[in-house]
Amino acid sequence: MEKPTPNNFIRDIIDEHLRLGRFGTKVHTRFPPEPNGYLHIGHAKSIVLNFGIARDYSGLCNLRMDDTNPEKEESEYVNAIIEDVKWIGFDWQDRLFYASDYFEQIYDYAVQLIKFGSAYVDDLDADTIRKYRGTLTEPGKESPHRGRSVEENLDLFARMRNGEYADGSRVLRAKIDMASPHIVMRDPVLYRIKRERHHRTLDKWCIYPMYDFAHCISDSIEGITHSICTLEFENNRPLYDWILDALKTYHPQQIEFARLNLSNTVLSKRKLLQLVKENYVIGWDDPRMPTLSGLRRRGYTPLSIRNFCNSIGVAKMDSIVDITVLENSIREELNKTVPRRMAVLRPLRVVITNYPEGNTEELDAINNPEDLSAGTRKVPFGREIYIEQEDFREVPPPKFHRLSPGKEVRLRYAYFITCTEVIKDPKTGEIVEVRCIYDPATRGGDSPDGRKVKATMHWVSREKAIDAEVRLYGPLFTERDPDHIPSGMPEGTDYRTNLNPGSLEILKGCKLEPSLDRSEPGSRYQFERLGYFYLDPVDAKDGKIVFNRTVSLKDTWAKVEKRPA
Ligand code: ATP
Ligand code: MG
Repeated sequence: MEKPTPNNFIRDIIDEHLRLGRFGTKVHTRFPPEPNGYLHIGHAKSIVLNFGIARDYSGLCNLRMDDTNPEKEESEYVNAIIEDVKWIGFDWQDRLFYASDYFEQIYDYAVQLIKFGSAYVDDLDADTIRKYRGTLTEPGKESPHRGRSVEENLDLFARMRNGEYADGSRVLRAKIDMASPHIVMRDPVLYRIKRERHHRTLDKWCIYPMYDFAHCISDSIEGITHSICTLEFENNRPLYDWILDALKTYHPQQIEFARLNLSNTVLSKRKLLQLVKENYVIGWDDPRMPTLSGLRRRGYTPLSIRNFCNSIGVAKMDSIVDITVLENSIREELNKTVPRRMAVLRPLRVVITNYPEGNTEELDAINNPEDLSAGTRKVPFGREIYIEQEDFREVPPPKFHRLSPGKEVRLRYAYFITCTEVIKDPKTGEIVEVRCIYDPATRGGDSPDGRKVKATMHWVSREKAIDAEVRLYGPLFTERDPDHIPSGMPEGTDYRTNLNPGSLEILKGCKLEPSLDRSEPGSRYQFERLGYFYLDPVDAKDGKIVFNRTVSLKDTWAKVEKRPA
């Protein structure tokens, strides 16, 4: 069920603007990803915030590719972003825009700034510009080219565009104040020369606008009212405002909020790209990744992600949200919605010696105790079944109530069984089979004489079971903050040292109840006592069945293994 969106300080600001009529009755937001990687759960927070505001205020929200940096941008990312935003459940209607579509307009605005005497072409190289910028305590130094005439600047800028100068040899800078207490206001660069093919404009341009210049103008062109971004842009707000004021053009309100940080993972496209490129994961959609494509392949639903984003709130202070909050959100949903099935991940063969040979029967099992309208199904039972290896101990430790010699337990929906014998491999001593007797009077799992057992176990018929591969996932990083490097590590050690070596466990030869044979890729189930599972749509083909564990039934975070020191 969709949870209501709580109020937040951004909505308060919008309410106030509506009261004052600052933008009339209009509310228009945008989600502006740079197509230099796949979207992650942090982006989902921004998507839910921006599209949620548009929905609740009868406004609009644009999807805009912020594609002004051709070095890192690709159309593969554009397509993935489109798919992911759609999947989260939002609709930009016909308002998919590209900042690169505004290149001509942005150029015209730059020319305009030059004409107003508010921008100049500088011949200093990047290093010198940086040196001249000054520090927080010292003012910057003016470039010797700062006093160029409007005519000279117009001529030089046109020639920059025409490709007459080498990459990096000239830039266009805003003429603001080299002594400004805001370093970003010390004549920031607006345009640079870069001969790089752009994924959309191809080789049309050899100069590209900087983010700070392109972004505010794109917002202005689209008539955005509230330009919502993350806190690191707070320092840039004076520049956002200065540019639009200097151009005397329509001026949205920028509002910053704290980005989402999630424990035990990284939410930086640069790092996620590195994990992909260096094969720490199998791709952007690896189910361990915090990307939306990874979460989707893990079995997360759009609703669980929307609910998560609404539950964590919107604030001005950075913090780390525990990944268990995300896991609880999917658990809560799937608990109510998905059918239960039985599966044995690490099978141990059980022979019921007093069960008639060759006999099988069909027992009734409830599909979802949380939703009885989901009905029941038949599960086959026979003389030989599988149980989990860990549900049996030859020498039970204290408080172990599951199967052990002489102990009676309940097989869910089936019978009570008592262990009579343990069969071992004569060479290795490994337990290969357990023999039991069953009580025919306990059919369905109820004892007629009120006899109690302390454990109810899942099982699968040996004869009718189907085989599957099951993938279990742990957190990608062992550290809550993966950027925290344990002391004593060598120079240059980075977040990759905190990768969890046990983040993926592949179990082959798992046994599933036969009703699962008919599952469609993308189906979700609760495997009793084991967690929620998702039939992998990528690797499940040619009759091969692969389930990804979305999440265990309860928190198992205590079990995260630390890499040995
Ligand atoms: P990264 O640091 O991962 O590279 P980014 O900010 O460069 O992220 P963009 O593509 O520019 O990525 O992000 C698009 C929008 O999503 C921006 O408005 C940005 O503020 C927002 N966003 C990005 N990361 C987060 C996050 N962790 N939490 C909330 N919003 C985010
Ligand atoms: Mg960005």
